[in-house]
Amino acid sequence: MPVRSRLLLVLPDGELHEYRCTGCGASLGTKTIRESRQSRIIMP
Ligand SMILES: [Zn+2]
Repeated sequence: MPVRSRLLLVLPDGELHEYRCTGCGASLGTKTIRESRQSRIIMP
């Protein structure tokens, strides 16, 4: 099953994302993505 990421929280050093199964909606865990400033520059 593919997963969908959802932004939970914006931290000083990154963003906390939650991953959920798109089939049943079960939470698969969270992940902190750092260096969010770089990704914001890349994204339009
Ligand atoms: Zn599922």
